[in-house]
Amino acid sequence: MMKDKKVAVIGLGSSGLNAALLLKDIGADVKITEASDNENVRKNAMLLEERKIPCQIGGHTKDFIEGNELIVVSPGVEDSSPSIKWANELGIPMISEMELGYSFCKGRIMAITGTNGKSTVTTLIGQILEKSGLDTVVCGNIGNSLCGEIKRINKDTWVVLEVSSFQLERISNFKPHIAIILNITDDHLDRYSKFSDYFNEKLKVFKNQDVKDILILNRDAKELEGLDKKAKSKILYYSRLTKTNGTYLKDNKIICAIDGRNEDICATEDIRLKGLHNAENVLVSSLAGIIAGVKAVSIKNTIRNFNSLRHRFETVDIIGGVEYIDDSKGTTVDSTYRALESCERPVILIAGGKDKNSNYGVIRELVKKKVKYLILIGEARKRIKKALGDAARTHEAGTMQEAVELARRLAKENTLVLLSPMCSSFDMFKDYKERGEIFKKAVLSIK
Ligand code: ADP
Repeated sequence: MMKDKKVAVIGLGSSGLNAALLLKDIGADVKITEASDNENVRKNAMLLEERKIPCQIGGHTKDFIEGNELIVVSPGVEDSSPSIKWANELGIPMISEMELGYSFCKGRIMAITGTNGKSTVTTLIGQILEKSGLDTVVCGNIGNSLCGEIKRINKDTWVVLEVSSFQLERISNFKPHIAIILNITDDHLDRYSKFSDYFNEKLKVFKNQDVKDILILNRDAKELEGLDKKAKSKILYYSRLTKTNGTYLKDNKIICAIDGRNEDICATEDIRLKGLHNAENVLVSSLAGIIAGVKAVSIKNTIRNFNSLRHRFETVDIIGGVEYIDDSKGTTVDSTYRALESCERPVILIAGGKDKNSNYGVIRELVKKKVKYLILIGEARKRIKKALGDAARTHEAGTMQEAVELARRLAKENTLVLLSPMCSSFDMFKDYKERGEIFKKAVLSIK
């Protein structure tokens, strides 16, 4: 049905690149357009031109969009892009890169969404399945797009798919066999005009599910209450706080109880990951493993060997009794809330970066309780200072190095220095990884 069809892909990041290659492979008449022009874009364009796929880079034009029968949109492209406006005006149907991948996916999809924890849970579930011998492909928002993995996926493959709200925009038939929602808190208020728009986008993950599918919800997340009534799927839960149909914590053990069948998965001391939020991540991943048919003992073995992903509440070093923790991926207020909640010693918090119009005030009480000093960096520092400046003694720093040196001077033995910015990194760094690496370098320089 795609053979000779005229299709334009918008956005030439890795999702767009792989969408275009997949379309070419199946015989579509495909071309691609990209607003920016940089080294990465040009490298991708060269790859496509070798395959005789026309590329327009450094801006979109209406004539490039006109005459197409379908438009495939990369997740990074915003609704305000002129290419989207033209496609709308011309009445050309638009789908997301993930929807395109889905239409060719023969495997069983387990889709993980939420504001925080997606990458950790996707990786852990991937390992639980893979180490038990199941044919597994981990992909999506985590880095490698679904379109790029289609060739590796057959009908027995479990596709463990990290799904962001941007990828759920413009789905039509996408229907995972298992959908997982971890939490939905404030994020991307720079791209969505209101929280409810972002919230509703996330709920699309289960909108096409039917009674044979499963929706897994975090029972402890208040914002998810009532979603069971909106879904046709079978609902299972995980909870750190109460017994539930699914997985839960009891007497320091992770227990799985589905429809009256009980089994122990592991003890909390088997979990290497630190923090209450990570206990939740282990609960949901264990449940996903059990549903996929993995034995409890195999799940336990994987959990015992699973460490935190880089830049997610990761200990960098302990210097003079002061522990330095890199949570550079803590780009939302809630992720910083969860990091602070897991700190059992007084905290010096380094925060700030590119503002996403977030409401920092929601962590005020916790900052009062846990944070001795707040060191602010980046564009958002004025807004954060306004919201939290009287909840802890507050300083500002011009660079990460300055922030870390100041933290060292302020720190007493037994203090935690936590980088958990609540913001994205693009004002001062290439990405959260570079921010974390520079933090680590600064910490090692004061050793
Ligand atoms: P995502 O892919 O959704 O951004 P990550 O696993 O990369 O999630 O973690 C992002 C941030 O959220 C990190 O600061 C991490 O410590 C924190 N985090 C991880 N799991 C959870 C969770 N279940 N709830 C809240 N925060 C979490």
